[in-house]
Amino acid sequence: MKFSIKLVLSTMIVLALALGFSGFYFVNYVFETSLDREVGQALDESSILSFAFETAALNVPLKYSVLPDSVVEEIASKLEMGGQGGGRLLRIAGEEKNILYTSGGFTADEGLLPQTDQHTKSYRVIREQESYYVHTCVSINALNRILYLETMKDVTGVFTERAMGFSLYRKVTVVILLTGTVIMLFIASFLTKPIRLLTRATREMAAGDYTYRARQISRDELGQLTGDFNRMANALEDNICKLEEEIEAREEFMGAFAHELKTPLTAIIGYADMLRSHKLDEEKSILSANYIYTEGKRLEAMSLRLLDIIVAKQDEAKLQETSVGELFAYLQEMFAEKKDADIRFTHEETMVWMEANLIKTVLVNLIDNACKASEPGGMLAAGETEPAAEAAASGGKAGVIEVTGQTVDGGYRIAVRDYGIGIPEAEQSKIIKAFYMVDKSRARSKNGAGLGLALCAEILKIHHSKLQIESKEGEGSCFSFLLAPSARSN
Ligand code: ADP
Repeated sequence: MKFSIKLVLSTMIVLALALGFSGFYFVNYVFETSLDREVGQALDESSILSFAFETAALNVPLKYSVLPDSVVEEIASKLEMGGQGGGRLLRIAGEEKNILYTSGGFTADEGLLPQTDQHTKSYRVIREQESYYVHTCVSINALNRILYLETMKDVTGVFTERAMGFSLYRKVTVVILLTGTVIMLFIASFLTKPIRLLTRATREMAAGDYTYRARQISRDELGQLTGDFNRMANALEDNICKLEEEIEAREEFMGAFAHELKTPLTAIIGYADMLRSHKLDEEKSILSANYIYTEGKRLEAMSLRLLDIIVAKQDEAKLQETSVGELFAYLQEMFAEKKDADIRFTHEETMVWMEANLIKTVLVNLIDNACKASEPGGMLAAGETEPAAEAAASGGKAGVIEVTGQTVDGGYRIAVRDYGIGIPEAEQSKIIKAFYMVDKSRARSKNGAGLGLALCAEILKIHHSKLQIESKEGEGSCFSFLLAPSARSN
C-alpha cells in the first residue's frame, strides 16, 4: 500500500474515533441532562398531587374517622382529570399496597410499591412498548390513612431527541470523514512528493543514469534527505567516473603493453628462426645475434621500468626533510661525464620534504629526455643542418639544458628546461601515459618505451605533486614540479 494512502487511512481512523467518542459523549450528556430535568419535574408533580390529595381529603364529611375507599377513588379521579391535555396517569394503593384506583392507560407494573414507604419517594424510567415514562411513587397521609400515589410521565421525547442526535451526528461524521479524506489525499500527496522524487531519482540511477538528481522542494527533514541523497549521488558519480577512467587507462595500458611486447618479440623470433633454419655467413649471423641482443635488452629495460612503476604505485610515502643541495650535487656528478650536452645546474639552497632516491629517478628521467630532445638532429632529419631560423628560436641556446631549483608561491619548484624539439600541443597531455611516445620509431631507436614520464608521474603522486609541462614545438620544453618546503628551511 502506498505511503500516502497509509497516511490518509491512519488520519481518518483517528478522526473517526475522535468524532465518534466526542459525538457519543456530547449527545449522551444532553440526553442525561434532559432526562434528569424530566425526572425532577415528575417527582415535583407527584409531590404536588400528593399535597392536593391530602388537601382534598380535608373536605371529607366529619362522620368519617378514616378515609373511605370510595372517597379515595373520587379524589383520584378528580386529580386524574385535572391533568394538562386531559388525563393524568396515576394509581393509588392502600396501606397494604393493594390497588385502590388505576387510571386507564396506567400500564406500569407494581415494582416501585415495595421500595416506597411513608418517608421515601422513589422513581424509575420504564419502557412500555414504543414509549418511555418516568414512573414515580410517593406516600399520601390523608385522614388517618397512609396511601401510595404512583404517576407515569411520558418522556419519549427525550429518547427520541437522543436517537435524532445520534443520527445527526452520524451523518455529520460521514460528511466530515468524506471531505476530510479528499483534503487529506491532497495533503498526503503534497507531503509525500519529496519521497516520490527521491524514489524516481533512485530508479533512474539504478537504471544507469548517474547524472540524475532529485529535485529539492522543501527545507524540512525530507528536503535535507534529498540534499544528502544528491550529495551521495555526486560522490558516487565522481567515483564511478574515476573507476571508468581507471578501467579505460588500464585497457589502454594493456593494449600498449601488448603492442610494445610484440615489436621486439617479433624481431627476436624472426632472427632466431633465421639463425636456426638457414646456414648464414658469419657477418649475417653476427648481425642477427646483434638484433636479438638489442631487442632483448630493450625488453629487459622495459620490464625493469614497469617494475619501477608498480613499486612506485604501491609505495607508501616515506618523505624526509632533505637538502636540495645534496640532490643537485648528485645530479651534477652523475651528468658530469655527459660531454655531448651542456647541462647547467642552478638552485636555491633549502630543505624540502622528499624521498631523495625517487626524486633523483624523476630528475634523471627528465634530464635524459631533455638530452634526447636536444641531440643534434633531434629536430631535423639526418643530414640536415640547423637552419638559422630555428637557431634563433632557441635564442642561441640549442643543446643547453637548464636544471633549476627555486622557492616559489606554493612550494619549491624544480624545473628541467631544454631548447630541443619541443612537443606538439595535442601530444602534451598524452605523454605521461604509459607507452606513449610522440615519435615511436625515434623513441625506440633511443631505447625508449614511453614509460619514463609515467614513472615520474607515479613518484610525484607520492609527493602529492604533479608534473607541469610547458612546451612549444621547435622551441623546447620545460618539465617542472613542486615539492613541499620543510619548516627548517626558514
Ligand atoms: P621514453 O622512454 O620514450 O623517453 P617517456 O615517458 O620518458 O618515454 O617520454 C614519452 C615521450 O614524450 C617520449 O617518447 C618523447 O616523445 C616525449 N618527450 C619526453 N620528454 C621530452 C622532451 N623534453 N622534449 C620532447 N619530447 C619529449
